Parts: sequence; structure tokens; C-alpha cells
Amino acid sequence: MAAADAAGDLGRADFDVIVVGAGIMGSCAAHAAASRGARTLLLERFDLLHDLGSSHGHSRTIRDAYPKARYPPMVRLARRLWGDAQADAGYRVLTPSPHLAMGPRSNAALLAAVGNGGGAEVDLAGRWGGGVFRVPDGWVTAVSELGGGVLDATKAVAMFQALAVKKGAVVRDNKEVVGIVKEEGGAGVRVTTSDGEEFHGAKCIVTVGAWTSKLVGSVAGLELPIQPLHMLTLYWKIRPGHEHELTAAAGFPTFSSYGDPHVYSTPSLELPGLIKINYDGGPPCDPNSRDWVSGGGDAADRVARWIEEFMPGHVVTDGGPVVRQSCMYSMTPDKDFVIDFLGGEFGQDVVLGAGFSGHGFKMGPAVGMILAELAIDGEARTAAEAGVELRHFKINQFKGNPMGNSKDD
Ligand SMILES: Cc1cc2nc3c(=O)[nH]c(=O)nc-3n(C[C@H](O)[C@H](O)[C@H](O)COP(=O)(O)OP(=O)(O)OC[C@H]3O[C@@H](n4cnc5c(N)ncnc54)[C@H](O)[C@@H]3O)c2cc1C
Repeated sequence: MAAADAAGDLGRADFDVIVVGAGIMGSCAAHAAASRGARTLLLERFDLLHDLGSSHGHSRTIRDAYPKARYPPMVRLARRLWGDAQADAGYRVLTPSPHLAMGPRSNAALLAAVGNGGGAEVDLAGRWGGGVFRVPDGWVTAVSELGGGVLDATKAVAMFQALAVKKGAVVRDNKEVVGIVKEEGGAGVRVTTSDGEEFHGAKCIVTVGAWTSKLVGSVAGLELPIQPLHMLTLYWKIRPGHEHELTAAAGFPTFSSYGDPHVYSTPSLELPGLIKINYDGGPPCDPNSRDWVSGGGDAADRVARWIEEFMPGHVVTDGGPVVRQSCMYSMTPDKDFVIDFLGGEFGQDVVLGAGFSGHGFKMGPAVGMILAELAIDGEARTAAEAGVELRHFKINQFKGNPMGNSKDD
């Protein structure tokens, strides 16, 4: 029976790979698996492209400037795969831009990020009209000219879902997975949904974002310290006369300002006349019962003070941000991803991709490729060839570590 017909039945359906969760990671994993010729099913508990997880909205930064040297090889692999996917789709989701990393010279994470491919130190007096940023003496200001940019998040998720379907994947939304069990006799797994449907997969990939601890806890009895945080995306009005200056089209960068508060931004792009400038942090939350506002006033006040001090005269802070959008980070204690076999009774039949700690979007295509290869081949050859070391992302990585609360990775 063809996979599409099988998925239409209310009875059991057979797939080579079942992916649970259709955010950026699951959508990329489904695309990678289907591209390998695997009969692939992607299950999502809400409507496709919903706003309730971590992959919605219109801007995510892609940058090489990483304090941990383990990430730039993954960024480079992802960048190649973003390019391949755009070429296949025939449209773009990545708008190139420079990236500016700045902060006090005493900030070790900043120095490490610059050292790991974060660009060259420049005098900001010669950049972006010379007057946008006012940074104190002794600050490091480093710009990477190439390879950075802004990813249109929801459009990118939609692109990978469309490409997955083009390669033969079946995509089903409003399917909440409530059970994953080993088939009797050990041949693969049975995946069940809250409305009573049942699917059989030789392998299963779990990419459920902020719901990871809940689902993995209930299906495997494993306690993972992956803590959802409630984040607010803040858009601010640009002062009249400066609108063009701060656009991606004018070459304005994505930027990350290290220290306290850690503030980051993408250039004016998706909402003309507005610029996204965010505080990098937020309070713990339950993904099923968010209050949708926590972190709001506090984060907005901190960002407003930062803007007044470091970008004076360019952005309106009176009255606060004009748009606020809710989102979630899924933090691990050391802010490293979890990409591993679930193990236990599932052995290598279930692969987990989780804990992307507020910095995973840019890596989506690389993570999807890794998850698909782990599921299909038992090893991630493409990543190994690209110099990505998966030993940093094992499930047991965070034993004994305290929880993290920001993506100062
Ligand atoms: C405000 C904000 C700014 C960010 N900025 C950046 C950035 O600049 N650069 C960057 O690289 N990253 C950034 N990130 C991080 C990045 O967006 C996330 O790491 C990434 O989106 C995580 O994707 P995911 O697929 O793991 O999770 P999600 O997108 O949450 O996807 C998980 C999916 O699983 C579904 N699901 C859950 N439970 C079940 C179930 N039982 N059955 C079926 N489906 C289920 C959910 O509904 C959801 O659709 C940012 C995140 C936020 C919130």
C-alpha cells in the first residue's frame, strides 16, 4: 500500500520513519528522511505552522560567531543545506546580512565567539553611517561580513514541509502523539495519537520542542532536564527618518550585545518601520499553560534602557515595544543540544532531537539530516564529514549540571 493511502486509513499504517513534531527540526528531519527514499510520516499535534511552539515568526539569526567551537562546523553544514533547499524550492528564506558581535572586552564568551569565526574587529565609526551605535571605550566590536543573515522562520518551516511532501512524505496535523511503544517481537515502534490512530514505524524521530520532557517522560520514563522558558519577541518603532538606515537592504547587521543584559537583534525586514530588539532570557514556563505575558514588562524595560544607552536617537522607546510575540526556548543545563538515540528498551529505534536552547533554528537542516541518518543508518555520516562532533549532544551530557536560563552559548 502506498504510504499516503495507508495514512488515510484509521487502521495501522507502515512507515520507515515516523517523525513526531513539525517545528523546524521535525520538518527538516522529515525532508531529509524522505529525500533518502524512506517512507516518511510527519505528525504534528496542532495546525501546521501554528504559533504555539518555538519555530514561528519571521526572523531568526544565522551566524558563525559561537563561543563554543563545536557549533561553527554545524552552522557551515546547515548553510550549505539551506542553500540546497532554497534552490530546490525556487524561493529564498534567508536574507544575507553582516553580523555584529559586541560587548565588554572582559566578556569571555564574546572573545571566544569572535575567535571561533565571529569576524574581524572593526571601528564602528566607519559603519552604518557611523552614528547608529554608541559603545563605550574598551568594548569589542567584531563584524562578520559573509555567511550571516536572517531566516524567515515560518516560511522556512513551510518550505521544508513542502519539500518533504514533494519527496513523498505524508504530513498529518492535529495529531497529538500520546504513545510510542516497541512492537512485540522488536520490529520497530507503534505510535499512537490522542484520537486513537495507530502507526507503525521501523524508526521514530522525536522533535517535540518544549514538550520533550513531558513526552519522553511518559513514553520512556526518562527524566530529561529540558526546561521551557517563556520568551517575548519585541518589535520597536524606528525613529522617523532612520527607517531605511536600519534595514537589511541597507546592509544593517544582525547583532548580539554580550553582557548584562544580553540583547540581540535582526535588521528591519519583515515589518517595515520596525526593528526587532530582544532580551535574551525569560522565566520558566509550562508549554501547556503559559500566561503569555511573563517576562514582558521586565524584559521590555531592560531592552529600552539598552537602546537608549547604545543606539540613542534611532529607536522609539517611549511606550515600549509596539509588537510583542510569545515564543519558547527549550533549555538544557549547558545549553548544548540533545541529539541522540533514546536508548533503553528503544535502543536505536527512537532518535531524539531536543533542547535547542534558543539557538537551534539556524541549524535546522543540519539537525534534520543528522536525525534522519541516525534513524536510517545508525550513524550520521554527513555530519561527520562536515566535522560536526555528536559526542557533545548525548542524552547523558547534563548529568549533575544546574539548569541554564539564557542562550549565551
Ligand atoms: C524568541 C526566539 C528567538 C530565537 N532566535 C533564534 C535565532 O536567532 N537563531 C536561532 O538559530 N535560533 C533561535 N531561536 C531558537 C529556535 O527557534 C528553536 O531552537 C527552534 O525553533 C526549535 O525547534 P523545534 O522543532 O525543536 O521545536 P518546535 O518549533 O516547538 O517544534 C516542536 C513541535 O512539536 C509539536 N509537538 C509537541 N508535542 C507533540 C506531540 N505529542 N505530538 C505531535 N506533535 C507534538 C509542537 O506542536 C511543535 O510544533 C529562537 C527561539 C525563540 C523562541
